[in-house]
Amino acid sequence: MINPEEAKQIILESTEMLESVELNLIESTSRIASENILTKLDLPIWNNSSMDGFAFILPENFDINDESINKFIISGNLFPGDEYLPIVNKGEAIKIMTGAPMPPKANCVVPIENAKIIKNDDSEFVIFTKQPKISDYIRLKGSDFKKGENIITVGQKIRPYDIAKLAANGINKIKVFPQPKISIIASGNELINPGETLSASSIYDSNSYSIASMVREAGGIPDIIGIAKDEISSIESNLRNAIDSDAIICSAGVSVGDKDFIKEVVSEQGKINFWSVNIQPGKPFLYSHIQGRGKEIPFFGLPGNPVSVMVLMIKFVIPAIRKMQGDESVYPKQTKAILAEQIVNNSKRNMFARVKIENINGELIAKPFNNHDSHIISSFSESNALANIPENCKILKAGAEVDVEIFDNSNIL
Ligand code: AMP
Ligand code: MG
Repeated sequence: MINPEEAKQIILESTEMLESVELNLIESTSRIASENILTKLDLPIWNNSSMDGFAFILPENFDINDESINKFIISGNLFPGDEYLPIVNKGEAIKIMTGAPMPPKANCVVPIENAKIIKNDDSEFVIFTKQPKISDYIRLKGSDFKKGENIITVGQKIRPYDIAKLAANGINKIKVFPQPKISIIASGNELINPGETLSASSIYDSNSYSIASMVREAGGIPDIIGIAKDEISSIESNLRNAIDSDAIICSAGVSVGDKDFIKEVVSEQGKINFWSVNIQPGKPFLYSHIQGRGKEIPFFGLPGNPVSVMVLMIKFVIPAIRKMQGDESVYPKQTKAILAEQIVNNSKRNMFARVKIENINGELIAKPFNNHDSHIISSFSESNALANIPENCKILKAGAEVDVEIFDNSNIL
């Protein structure tokens, strides 16, 4: 039996990041970048107007009250996308639209709201109603991004805001770590799928669904292979259907019961890294590698109790799935909290109890659930963290500081 820290270390050290792929921008959303990207542009590419208005050369000592100089001939129009850039001379103004490049020599834009247009028989003039100054309403070349600037860093999760950056800089593809494909197998003669009709001896397979949902939330692509009977041949055939994946997660049949054949089958097909962890719940946890298609793939054999499954997924399997995608950030988040009520640990193992953590006046308070049994799924519904009661601690009293691992931030922030 190994300790939980050791188990996690063995898993993470043996987990490889998947080979990176080049994706279109939209497909790269939420993936982790596997390359640094430097922009090849100054952005904006040229000085341009930030308003619909008039571009002109601002005379020295310009004063809107001086009628002899506050009068400009409107000498042309300029729209974004126009190929021809008009020349503006002193005493002239070009009507310019937002985003159009500044005409050469023009050093000021006055918005249309601050201008009055006067029409003569054959020409139009503009008079400004608010004192302008040099550089007004001009977006300068390179004021957003400078050529050579790093805009994406390896290990960064691509967010919609990053997609905006990439597209604006003319980049349409990015190398990222792909989503791992995870095969999920349930085992047990008693299991049927949700939606099917119960018989006197059946229960619903909830593990495959909780596992698949957690895999998906962690960025993986779950593939529910099916339910294996408690027979060697059935387990083998389900395993054969799972070899086209990046990892296999199996629940139940991994303990010491008379029909627990998972370990036997897996040890014939590959190598066992460990079996049995000093943890409550989840002790008969099996980690091994089996031959997949073209590569060795990790096999996580979880005990069948639904709570054990979720605890082991949170603590061990999800961090591995995140690492396959290039995400090495610490998960679940480790911190300390104050225990609101005592927790009794009868297991003589490292207990991970479901708690609800709340931030009360800046202090993290952990409220445990009364029933810590491994079949009580309902106690998970409100919990957002696991509290660690060490193996040698029989009772951790109310008010004690406790190590917690937060897997859901939503009640806390
Ligand atoms: P086992 O690990 O096979 O000894 O199973 C332990 C407990 O988990 C038993 O009560 C099983 O009926 C239950 N169990 C096993 N597989 C599942 C599953 N996929 N969904 C829900 N409960 C399960
Ligand atoms: Mg069983």
